[in-house]
Amino acid sequence: RRPVLEIEDLSVGYETPNSLVHAVSDVNLTVHEQEILGLVGESGSGKSTLAFAVMRLLKGDAVVTKGRVRVAGQDVYALTPAELRSFRWKKMSMVFQSAMNALNPVMTVETQIVDTLLAHQPDWSRERALARARELLELVRIDAKHLKSYPHELSGGMRQRVVIAIAIALQPDLVIMDEPTTALDVVVQRSILDEIREIQQREKFAILFISHDFSLVAELASRVAIMYAGRIVEVTDSETLADGYRHHPYTEGLIRAIPHLTAEQVVIEGIPGNPPNLMELPSGCAFHPRCPYATEECRQARPPQYPSEHGLIECHLFKPQREAQHV
Ligand code: SF4
Ligand code: MG
Repeated sequence: RRPVLEIEDLSVGYETPNSLVHAVSDVNLTVHEQEILGLVGESGSGKSTLAFAVMRLLKGDAVVTKGRVRVAGQDVYALTPAELRSFRWKKMSMVFQSAMNALNPVMTVETQIVDTLLAHQPDWSRERALARARELLELVRIDAKHLKSYPHELSGGMRQRVVIAIAIALQPDLVIMDEPTTALDVVVQRSILDEIREIQQREKFAILFISHDFSLVAELASRVAIMYAGRIVEVTDSETLADGYRHHPYTEGLIRAIPHLTAEQVVIEGIPGNPPNLMELPSGCAFHPRCPYATEECRQARPPQYPSEHGLIECHLFKPQREAQHV
């Protein structure tokens, strides 16, 4: 399958009075046509910064310090501002956690969808745009009568569905969803995730699905990228997560942290310790203070990205055998 999103060696830093603090470092990641790739990490691990960098929506003091982002083969950072405006709807779009609150409160659902369509498809008639608006609402399972509704007349779940409908209105190749259901209750979250999967299969876009919720991502995505302290420490197939494969020690911790239902009780094992402060990252492998396998080498040298059977892994334990013998 053709790659839709190619992130190459990307680093993003925040300028502070005395230094540049990296929130994203050396990220390599590819999302293919019609794929759902999950990006998981604790809050502050750099997931949202990475998403904003892909959309070229970094704000204020955040800067791309190296690397490249291509969407549908196009270098996102080579576009002119005018090109970028239409590229953001026609090739890539984004749904945020709080996006449902970003709908215009004084415009009906119909106006918001139709205006978006007409702004980017100036040759479309109003009728055609309206027909597409109806079709989009149907896709997200909202009755067409709500075209006449204002955002405050809809529940949080319905508003978030409208936002998803707008994000896919111009049939982008890639939709980034950053914690799209986190603000909603569990039942609504579940049905929206089912809908996302269904719509994705029908409309055939690729999704970069970002969440702190590992079990949710493992269930929804076919491949998973795990982010820790600004780095992608592992990329793997979701199927390997339940199958006793060896994973990055941090991934292993996330797997253990999924609550296991036993006969008598729910057992939750977590990862001891806290994610590091990006301004004072531990030496070597940033995970070493929390890692049960940490060695002197881990404290001194950052592990390289090794190719693995299912993707890549950044950990000294996965040093290829041949190379290990020379050390
Ligand atoms: Fe643990 Fe070392 Fe691997 Fe880092 S490189 S995850 S500290 S074993
Ligand atoms: Mg975030």
